[in-house]
Amino acid sequence: MKRSTGLNHTHDPAAISWVDSAQQPGCDFPIQNLPWGVFQRRDAGDGFRGCVAIGDQVLDLRALAISGVFTGAALQAAQAASQPSLNTFMAMGPAAWQALRHAVFGLLSDGASAQTRAMVSLSLVPQSQAEMGLPARIGDYTDFYTSIYHATNIGKLFRPDNPLLPNYTWVPIGYHGRASSVMVSGHGFKRPSGQICPPGATEPVFSACKRLDWELELGVFVGTGNALGSPVALDEAEDHVFGVCLLNDWSARDIQAWEYQPLGPFLSKNFATTVSPWVVSMEALAPYRQALQRPDGKTNDLAYLSSDHNTAHGALDIQLTIGLTSEAMRAADLPVHNVCQTSYRHAYWTLAQMVAHHTVNGCNLQPGDLLGTGTLSGPTLDQAGALIELTQGGKVPLTLPSGEQRTFLLDGDEVTLRGWCERPGTARIGFGSCIAQVQPAAI
Ligand code: CA
Repeated sequence: MKRSTGLNHTHDPAAISWVDSAQQPGCDFPIQNLPWGVFQRRDAGDGFRGCVAIGDQVLDLRALAISGVFTGAALQAAQAASQPSLNTFMAMGPAAWQALRHAVFGLLSDGASAQTRAMVSLSLVPQSQAEMGLPARIGDYTDFYTSIYHATNIGKLFRPDNPLLPNYTWVPIGYHGRASSVMVSGHGFKRPSGQICPPGATEPVFSACKRLDWELELGVFVGTGNALGSPVALDEAEDHVFGVCLLNDWSARDIQAWEYQPLGPFLSKNFATTVSPWVVSMEALAPYRQALQRPDGKTNDLAYLSSDHNTAHGALDIQLTIGLTSEAMRAADLPVHNVCQTSYRHAYWTLAQMVAHHTVNGCNLQPGDLLGTGTLSGPTLDQAGALIELTQGGKVPLTLPSGEQRTFLLDGDEVTLRGWCERPGTARIGFGSCIAQVQPAAI
């Protein structure tokens, strides 16, 4: 693969699939995308296995691997991807991921023979009949803080005179999150309870969270790991990245405000994280690369965080939206109300810099590890990726189409993240959606 662009025949915008729904306008899953996931047939309980999205269908990789349509490296990759999670396939590395992507592309393209189509059709399941699972067994989850706009907006709320701490432009800041509470889209979660220190009080009370928020992020699944003590060089970092999904880092702002100093977020973040089921590969994202653009123009990163390739091609233009519905809106059949649109291209630190920084001290990443980008707020307030920014710390409520107002989330609220890439001369590809609903607190 040419590192400069990484483009090949699977990115051809003129390519079409014999699966007609892949050509529907606005479809997230045309043949140029082919994201990875795991699924089982809903109600059949026939076991999770790896799959690929095409149009409104799921392509069952286990069934295909058994059918005899694959050979060589693609067959080995498909057999690994037949397991209930993708960790083994993730560990195989970019050559295996590309071999299977290109083989699947050939099977689904309109150039495939009638015999091939007939055989592959047997491995297609409508997405409406598929129950999606978590793509990987996630060993470790780390959340970064790569939007300088988010860091500044949040910093202003806590430190009006000194919003951005001086290390921000030198260190890709992160913290170790909790893997056990990462859930796939479609699973609700209970509002957390915990210690809250009311405004003006000197002692905390125990309460259900009253300032429940979302955070619009991307999730990065690690593919091949690195050995303990062996840092990953910046220009090798993307070879360790299996792909990208949508991620919602649910946040209890009142619990966070009381607990976050001195060691950072703990119970305010680890009660739930939602990811989308489809993982879009770095190969599929190649047409949407762009130069790193920083508002301060900083170019003097330390050497381990700096390369010509990263500067020229390290950013990704992924469009992102946040939508909200309340119980009343759904009862009235009102559509999802979008409250934010932004792009991943505004991030201060690239995905490769996240991986290089995470491992520079010798920390070992493992297949299936999950990295969050941090809240991806853009330069203006309507591009803010969290309610605490959109409502200016809870002071300026949002008004919903039902007439209801929100400063923070109420029980029954449902949040939908979406993402897609489009650029003239390329196909549009999408991430599907990342949805979850807030349920009442347990205590
Ligand atoms: Ca976060």
